[in-house]
Amino acid sequence: MTVKAQIIDGKLLSAQIRAELAAKIAASGVCPVLAVVMVGNSEASRIYVRNKQKAALEVGIKCEIHTLPEDVTQEELQQFVRDLNQNKEINGIIIQQPLPKHLEVLPLLQLIDHKKDVDGFGPINLGLLMLRSPLAVVAATPKGILQMLKSTNVNLQGKHVVIIGRSNIVGKPLAQLLLNQDCTITVTHSKTKNLPQIVSKADIVVAACGCPNMVKSDWLQEGAIVIDVGINRSSEGKLCGDVDFDDAVSKASFISPVPGGVGPMTVAMLLENTYEAFCAQQG
Ligand code: NAD
Repeated sequence: MTVKAQIIDGKLLSAQIRAELAAKIAASGVCPVLAVVMVGNSEASRIYVRNKQKAALEVGIKCEIHTLPEDVTQEELQQFVRDLNQNKEINGIIIQQPLPKHLEVLPLLQLIDHKKDVDGFGPINLGLLMLRSPLAVVAATPKGILQMLKSTNVNLQGKHVVIIGRSNIVGKPLAQLLLNQDCTITVTHSKTKNLPQIVSKADIVVAACGCPNMVKSDWLQEGAIVIDVGINRSSEGKLCGDVDFDDAVSKASFISPVPGGVGPMTVAMLLENTYEAFCAQQG
């Protein structure tokens, strides 16, 4: 394996961001509160939520986990969110996804007070992002990816970014965020034709499609920057991304690994969003 690319170490970068945040929170003597709403008791959701809670506590953010029964109705859940909106002790609200099949997520995202929408998934924050407003709460994963790109010190202006995946939580908000940085964006998805050929034109590739090890070195332009968002299990049961790291590392100039790349940055950005929401609410 020829190693050429520099590694974008999300674990290290996120640790620095969390340490700075912890120092800021300690110095101001405050305690922001994040409410996580979880429906049912899926093992995966419990692990994700516990990790968020642990990371929050370490920086001085209180993270309340509200677990509602699997058979909660849409209306009961919406009333629960309305109550959190009204509760002045709560600064941030997130709804752990996926939800059970009988529940619709969109009405809930529309309901969360946009100042407490620290996931940035609601229509007001997405609209503010589109309008390039500094008031937008930017979704944690795209925000973390931008920090990772900035950490390379490469000038982003005019760079052609190919994003693989158009989800509401990664691909679409990331496209807008990087457009606001004067990048040129191509968003691709499962119906895109000639994907490798499109990817080969990219200065920056962001893979967020949930396809284990899909992006190969022969898809890449020499020296491309590669950010891997995917969290998958390979056929051997190993945690892996959407990029074939061992192969792509020989062609990229910078590359983020899985694990230890985008994942820890997402958590750090959620905490940053919660602190910023707290500050905005204090005026
Ligand atoms: P999603 O399932 O909502 O969306 C996947 C997108 O990829 C869709 O737009 C789909 O059209 C596209 N796609 C699927 N197969 C494709 C293919 N063969 N070629 C091109 N496009 C294809 O997924 P998501 O929630 O955006 O997550 C994507 C991946 O990123 C998953 O592996 C997920 O676990 C991971 N993820 C990681 C983080 C993190 O913090 N690291 C955060 C969110 C998601």
